[in-house]
Amino acid sequence: MRKTIDILGVPVDSITMSEAVAKIDSFMNESGVHAIFTPNAEIMMAAQRDPELKEILSNADMLTADGAGVVLASKLLGRSVPEKVSGIDLVQNIFKTCASKGLRLFLFGAKPGVAQEAAEKIKAANPGIVIAGCRDGYFTPDQESDIVNTINLSCADLLLVALGAPKQEKWIARNKNVLNVKVCIGVGGAINVLSGRVQLSPDFFRRNGLEWLHRLYKEPRRAKRMMDLPRFMIRVMWEKFTGR
Ligand code: UDP
Repeated sequence: MRKTIDILGVPVDSITMSEAVAKIDSFMNESGVHAIFTPNAEIMMAAQRDPELKEILSNADMLTADGAGVVLASKLLGRSVPEKVSGIDLVQNIFKTCASKGLRLFLFGAKPGVAQEAAEKIKAANPGIVIAGCRDGYFTPDQESDIVNTINLSCADLLLVALGAPKQEKWIARNKNVLNVKVCIGVGGAINVLSGRVQLSPDFFRRNGLEWLHRLYKEPRRAKRMMDLPRFMIRVMWEKFTGR
C-alpha cells in the first residue's frame, strides 16, 4: 500500500531511500510502465501554476521528496516524510540493483555526448551493468516516435529521462503508453552529474539543506527560478495556518 503525504495537492510518497529502491525493484517484476518523479520546491510550485503538470505528478507511481524544501514542507504540515530521496541518489542506488539483476538501462537527455560519458562512468562504478542505449535530449516533435522506437528496440528495463522539468514529466506522460520499459524516472540534470560535467554540492551543503545556496552561487542565472523556493515555503505556511 502506498503511503503518501498531500503537499499543496501533490501526493508525495512518505518513503525512505531503501524503501524506494525496493519498490522500484518490485516494479521491475510487474507489468506496465511505471512513472517516477522526484519533485523539488521548484517543481511543486510549477505544478501550482500548471494543472497539466499537477495531474501528471498526481498520476505517477512514485513521487519522492527531492530537496530540503519539500522535506521541510512535509514537517511543517505535520505529515513528515522520513527523509530526502533525491533523484541523483535514488538512481545511483538503483544502478546497484540493475548490475546485480542484469537489468538494462537507457539514458535519455542532456546535450549530445553527455549521456555516453555518463554511461562510461556508470559502467566503471557498477561493474556488470548493461547500458542498453543513450540518446541526447534535443529533438523536434517529429523525431519523438523514432526516439520511442530506439528505446523499445534496446529492450531497456529502466529509462532515465533528463530533459529538465516539466519537459521530462510531460514527455513521460505522453509516451508512457507506447514505451515498453518497466520504469521511467524523470531525473532533471542527473545525467550531467553522472557524466562528471556538473559537480554535486559539497556534503556540508547537501546535509544541511543548503544545496540551493551552493547552486545559486555556482549558477546565478537560476536565481529567478529559485525564487520558487521561498514562494513554496510561503504557500505551505499559508496552507498550514488557513487549511487552504
Ligand atoms: N535538456 C534536454 N533537452 C531539452 C532541455 C534540457 O536534454 O530540450 C537537458 C539539459 O541539457 C540538462 C537537463 O535537461 O542536462 C536539465 O538540467 P537542469 O539542471 O536544468 O534540470 P533540473 O534538475 O533543474 O530540472
